[in-house]
Amino acid sequence: MTQKFDNLINGTWVAGASYSPNINPSNLSDVLGDYAQASAEHLDSAVQAARAAFPAWSVSGIQARSDALDKIGTEILARREELGTLLAREEGKTLAEGIGEAARAGNIFKFFAGECLRLAGETLPSVRPGIGVEVTREPMGVVGLITPWNFPIAIPAWKIAPALAYGNCVVFKPADLVPGCAWALAEIISRSGIPAGVFNLVMGRGSVIGDPLVNHPGVDAISFTGSQGVGGRIAQQCAVNLKKVQLEMGGKNPQVILDDADLAQAVELSVQSAFFSTGQRCTASSRLIVTDAIYPRFLDAMKTRMASLKVGDAQQAGIDIGPVSSLTQLEQDLSYVQIGQDEGAVLVAGGERLARDNEGFYMAPALLTETTATMRINREEVFGPVASIIRVKGYEEALAEANNTPFGLSAGIATTSLKYATHFKRHSQAGMVMVNLPTAGVDYHVPFGGRKSSSYGSREQGKYAQEFFTTVKTAYTLS
Ligand code: NAD
Repeated sequence: MTQKFDNLINGTWVAGASYSPNINPSNLSDVLGDYAQASAEHLDSAVQAARAAFPAWSVSGIQARSDALDKIGTEILARREELGTLLAREEGKTLAEGIGEAARAGNIFKFFAGECLRLAGETLPSVRPGIGVEVTREPMGVVGLITPWNFPIAIPAWKIAPALAYGNCVVFKPADLVPGCAWALAEIISRSGIPAGVFNLVMGRGSVIGDPLVNHPGVDAISFTGSQGVGGRIAQQCAVNLKKVQLEMGGKNPQVILDDADLAQAVELSVQSAFFSTGQRCTASSRLIVTDAIYPRFLDAMKTRMASLKVGDAQQAGIDIGPVSSLTQLEQDLSYVQIGQDEGAVLVAGGERLARDNEGFYMAPALLTETTATMRINREEVFGPVASIIRVKGYEEALAEANNTPFGLSAGIATTSLKYATHFKRHSQAGMVMVNLPTAGVDYHVPFGGRKSSSYGSREQGKYAQEFFTTVKTAYTLS
């Protein structure tokens, strides 16, 4: 019989209103388990539990919080292979990527175990003699955390760890496609010594429990990562309810390749950022902007490298790219390959569904050429292994094309010129800029986030996470 996994509400494992099977995208006959689907009533209980736990937790000692976060991080790191395998089986990342993501989650908890000891304020003299001023940070209250399916353990970690570190109570709603990593993380947190109600897990669909979570009067702030469409609606709802909100959304990240680039390096980082993790990263580069002189050599080398990529079961050794995570996403990816061609682009590699020993959502990474900035393929996020090349005359045109997008998450340049690298870092309209590195692949101790339609609100990760998960108090004392 398939194992059942329940929601965690007020320190108790609570049965779902129904259960949903968690299916391995590499092998559709492999079911990881049946995961509880919370009802709106369950969501309400989770918020009430978090509210009840907040007064004590918000003034709990920072040593206790630090110890709990450290314990969680230590266990995740010790179990990185097991959790990484679960991730690969559930989401379709390769084993190496899955284990790497699990390790990242562990390191994030360890980082915030230290950060909660370092939350500093300010003491200033008043402009009025005889008065002192203190500026301190306090927890926001009950925070709702809503996460996407593509980083099923790292994104929950980088929201939950700072939320708890700074004294907030949490209601966590993971993406319904990947409840396995979320449940495993919740189970570890449930044994960390954190009091009942401080951390709650509610699994289920966005329309059923995401919406009530955003609109619940008992929730003080919402941190969301996901698509632009859903994020925009959440921002509107939070504005109406005067609720603090932080949104991390999509990307259409440019990778510029200049004539003076190291060709082998440029090809490797382009393949890495466009196709690894099956292109399912908000920081993936889907627009390769290539200058004239290097274009023919770059295209040839890309085709050769792409022909060597192994697409297959995420848990199999030697695989470069796992399956697309769901049928819906696969259909979207294939449809964009067609949309691109209908707009006049030329498909020079991949772009078709692949059959493997197991039935799964396999797709050959696709490369489109002869594309222009106005095509939908270059304006809309595909979120799959689909990249297009935009050919340009020189650096100035490349920079203009890189910035010619409604998004602004990550941007990369491949060049051996210090002058162009420096100029690009300064003038790229993205939150993160990479020189001779893939657009995807970031550290956990520095800010993460973008500009324009990619992000809204304060940055995540590193010490910048304080901005969202605390509120500032200014106190005046007559001496
Ligand atoms: P999505 O927007 O469909 O879902 C994200 C989360 O929102 C899920 O948990 C979903 O259940 C929930 N949700 C859906 N409808 C809701 C509603 N009405 N109210 C509240 N919650 C609701 O996104 P996805 O398909 O899971 O993830 C892919 C997207 O995430 C891509 O656009 C990708 O670029 C983006 N992403 C961004 C970042 C970043 O940090 N910028 C990182 C990873 C993924």
